[in-house]
Amino acid sequence: MLLNLSDVLGEQHKTIEREIPVEMDSFVHEGTSYPVLSKEPLSLKVEHIKNRELLITGKNRITVEIPCDRCLEPVKTELMLDFCKNVDLDMSDGEQPEELDETNYIDGYELDAEQLLRNEVLIGWPTKILCRDDCKGICNVCGQNLNRGTCNCEDTGLDPRMSVIRDVFKNFKEV
Ligand SMILES: [Zn+2]
Ligand SMILES: [Zn+2]
Repeated sequence: MLLNLSDVLGEQHKTIEREIPVEMDSFVHEGTSYPVLSKEPLSLKVEHIKNRELLITGKNRITVEIPCDRCLEPVKTELMLDFCKNVDLDMSDGEQPEELDETNYIDGYELDAEQLLRNEVLIGWPTKILCRDDCKGICNVCGQNLNRGTCNCEDTGLDPRMSVIRDVFKNFKEV
């Protein structure tokens, strides 16, 4: 949704405070699309600081489905977003003080709330996702989810080089 900034940039510098409905149904991260399970409206506040400098604060909670790093089972992941950014519209993107603060979401007098939210989801994206702390992962041989039960593969999940060592030991015993 596009938010018109003319009130806050105009003579009166009226602060804009809005609850903005979120449109995204999925989030694409590094080429993979993750379904958005639930989302709240984005609470957004845009205040004037000086000249064409704005303070943008926002809060949002969004739940995304991300596969577990070990067993690939989908994990409901809640992202709590709470941001506060200083944007000087007179500066070009490269001159913005905060490195991650690309102003790709402001075009003239319009703020693209959806794009702003996408940036924030990207910043808040978790680096590690586990369905549970002690997730056992999947068997490298047969693909069995080891949280649900064991499989019949011998000494699964180990580095294949280990089995070479194991064979060497076996041969020793036989001699
Ligand atoms: Zn898992
Ligand atoms: Zn197996």
